Amino acid sequence: MAYTITDACISCGACEAECPVSAISAGDDKYVIDADACLDCGACAAACPVEAPKAE
Ligand code: SF4
Ligand code: SF4
Repeated sequence: MAYTITDACISCGACEAECPVSAISAGDDKYVIDADACLDCGACAAACPVEAPKAE
C-alpha cells in the first residue's frame, strides 16, 4: 500500500515538507510519491489543498 498523487495536483509543494520519510518530490507535471518509501501515513493527504494524494 502506498499513496499516489493524482492529476488534481497543482504542484504547490505543501505535501513534500509533511512527509516523514521524504518520499515526495517534484515531478514533471505534478508531485510524485516513491511507493517503496511511503508508509501510508496520510500526512500528505491532510496537507494537500486539493485532495490530490489518494490511498490505493
Ligand atoms: Fe509520505 Fe505519509 Fe504521504 Fe506516504 S502517506 S507519501 S509516508 S506523507
Ligand atoms: Fe500537489 Fe497537493 Fe502536494 Fe500540493 S500538497 S504538491 S497540490 S499533492
